[in-house]
Amino acid sequence: MPDAPEKKRPFDTYPMRVEKTTLISPRIRHIVFKFKDGKNMPFTAGQFVQMVIPQPDKPRRTSYSIASPPLHPDFFELCVTLVDGGKSSTYLHNLREGDEIQAIGPFGKFVLPQPLLRDITFIATGSGIAPFRSMINDLLHKGAPRNLSLLFGNRFPEDIIYDDEWKALAQKHGDKLRVLHTLSRPPASWPGEKGYVQDKIEGFVKDAAARDFYICGLVKMIEGVVEKLKSLGVTEDHIHFERYD
Ligand SMILES: Cc1cc2nc3c(=O)[nH]c(=O)nc-3n(C[C@H](O)[C@H](O)[C@H](O)COP(=O)(O)OP(=O)(O)OC[C@H]3O[C@@H](n4cnc5c(N)ncnc54)[C@H](O)[C@@H]3O)c2cc1C
Repeated sequence: MPDAPEKKRPFDTYPMRVEKTTLISPRIRHIVFKFKDGKNMPFTAGQFVQMVIPQPDKPRRTSYSIASPPLHPDFFELCVTLVDGGKSSTYLHNLREGDEIQAIGPFGKFVLPQPLLRDITFIATGSGIAPFRSMINDLLHKGAPRNLSLLFGNRFPEDIIYDDEWKALAQKHGDKLRVLHTLSRPPASWPGEKGYVQDKIEGFVKDAAARDFYICGLVKMIEGVVEKLKSLGVTEDHIHFERYD
């Protein structure tokens, strides 16, 4: 008998409880959502969920990259930038521990190839770091077969989220992971790199054309980075990105 045509898998809805919510930069909140009713959601690092945001008329579904690696079956974490006048980001920032919300997913193809054949450079600004926190922790946990480098751009020093984690990971996995921060509006006391991420790529990776690049954040940054990478000889099939706007 011939196989039945493959049915498109419907995405599951998961009732979640807010386990912890922490303001980790002036505008970004890190939120831990715990699965209720013993359910869990298998996902691949880099994927996103849609959070169901109640509204007076019809609830809206808003996408957020999962910021935690898939190593933990009973929870996932998001980092959410508060957008001025933003309905979903304001709702999520106002959630308190114990509150309940629904999540749908997992979605997206912004994931790493298996096996990993080339070194990878991740480039993010702001909460665009979320999928890379998931991917990098997942890869390092599994023993990362290739070298990883992360270029993270922010405006001010206080905007650098998960800074302690990056320091600890780079220290523990110095042979596998390099991290470079750059600030676009640094104070005079900032000892590190200054300027936009696209202007730091050449200095950070010498063999751009031999790598794969994963970029995440707002479209203006992504466009600037893609243009730069092309000028460095990186072909489109080695440039992958996730747009937040
Ligand atoms: C695949 C995917 C993953 C995403 N992951 C994350 C994530 O991990 N963390 C995160 O914080 N956001 C993420 N986003 C963005 C998120 O989905 C929302 O767009 C964002 O939170 C704004 O929603 P809102 O309802 O608060 O704003 P809205 O009420 O929809 O918009 C309010 C105003 O803000 C503008 N605006 C919309 N989005 C942004 C933005 N991102 N930055 C600045 N201005 C904006 C709109 O043009 C509008 O004028 C992701 C988006 C996609 C597509």
